[in-house]
Amino acid sequence: MSRAAELTVLDPTTSPAFPVAAKTMLRDAQLRKNVRHATEVIQNKRARVVGEMPDWQQLREAGRQIRTHTMANLDFYLEEFERNCTKAGGVVHWARDSAEAKQIVTALVKASGSGGEGATEVIKIKSMTTEEIHLNQALEAAGIHAYETDLAELIIQLGHDQPSHIVVPALHKNRQQIREIFQREMNLPELGEKPEDLADAARRFLREKFLRVKTAVSGANFLIAETGGVCIVESEGNGRMCLTLPETLITVAGIDKVLPRFQDLEVVLQLLPRSATGERMNPYNSIWTGVHEGDGPRSFHVVLMDNARTEVLADEEGRQTLNCIRCGACQNACPVYRQTGGHAYGSVYAGPIGAILTPQLQKMHYAQSLPYASSLCGACYEVCPVKINIPEVLIHLRNKVVEQKSSLDPEALAMKTMALIFRSEKRFRAAQRLGRIAEAPLVRRDGQDGGWIGWLPGILGGWTQVRDLQEMPKETFRDWWEKRGSRGN
Ligand code: SF4
Repeated sequence: MSRAAELTVLDPTTSPAFPVAAKTMLRDAQLRKNVRHATEVIQNKRARVVGEMPDWQQLREAGRQIRTHTMANLDFYLEEFERNCTKAGGVVHWARDSAEAKQIVTALVKASGSGGEGATEVIKIKSMTTEEIHLNQALEAAGIHAYETDLAELIIQLGHDQPSHIVVPALHKNRQQIREIFQREMNLPELGEKPEDLADAARRFLREKFLRVKTAVSGANFLIAETGGVCIVESEGNGRMCLTLPETLITVAGIDKVLPRFQDLEVVLQLLPRSATGERMNPYNSIWTGVHEGDGPRSFHVVLMDNARTEVLADEEGRQTLNCIRCGACQNACPVYRQTGGHAYGSVYAGPIGAILTPQLQKMHYAQSLPYASSLCGACYEVCPVKINIPEVLIHLRNKVVEQKSSLDPEALAMKTMALIFRSEKRFRAAQRLGRIAEAPLVRRDGQDGGWIGWLPGILGGWTQVRDLQEMPKETFRDWWEKRGSRGN
């Protein structure tokens, strides 16, 4: 069993802190190899197709402006979406939080189904929002089985695993591991190992579901206020099957997914596929608006979910997080994510975007280690298609974490003591003398460049966990300078 499979749901309220979970992941050499290989392939493809666009930086700026303007006027555009969606025959529901959203979807699924009987099965399009609220588990508890139809999500579901990437949820699995899952779960002992064999097995498995199940649940890449339409982009066409074949379609979307105008798609549909999968355009771009006689689902619902997004919106510095179009480029570029994979983040949102989004969605009560799960190298900012300054938000959130800590917290106490020492030259010099005396028993002299300390006690031990510390110099710069005297020699 893989380490990922040992995990239960990715829930920030119960998951271990990032450094604890990351240690486990770092020991899984296969997982690291899979993640490194997959992120490298996507990054190279992305670089190639972005390089073809002479106006890429202008496009990024346009994307940033559209998203920033939308967030500044979110109430207006959400109401406009509701008006236009309702006019077209859709039904809009508002959910304050995850519990309300799950309740609404479960009730809608129960009320759907053919011949007046409530549905006990749904087909699902890949959706991070439904992952965020653990919708499948809630449906299961209500006696409704959800079939994931996106190939990667299907692998995750059949493998009893958890997604580890926003765009490529099964990126931590290699082909051999996928084959084993399909063989076991689909009962196919003779299954070949070529990509076509695996795709064919998935196609056969899903086709029967598409033709039988009458209710579908989707997420949304974008909601279009001007028309009341919903947009989903995908690579396989399984989503399109879920949007067209069932009689009832229920879309769950975060309130941050709205765009003002239909024309805004022109910008985001250039930015998203290039950043996400290195494609010039997604093979399937579906936009649907309400219901139409003889075409598509008979009944269409949109659940607009807040789930702490208005709190994020209220925070001037953290607000840019909501501009995210969930492309996953920041994950592929992040040196921390590339070592640990997604499960260490304890949330369905992993990598740099997870490090800023998850703590804010949890109102900073949980996932407080995530803003520190970054080297602040800025690679995420450079690739973000809507120019979210992730390092800036990370630092803002680190400040919040410190503010929330008790003044008796050992780290806070240590920082206060340091501040006291740095404020006085006398105290600073005394601390240096004391430090030299205290370090003496710990210094080892087995190198050519002076002494090194390989172990420090107590909370200082974190520093020497993965690297040695050089001993303090015998003479400080100040001492040296004073010795030179007024003649400067
Ligand atoms: S933060 Fe930017 S790069 Fe990361 S997923 Fe969101 S849009 Fe993509």
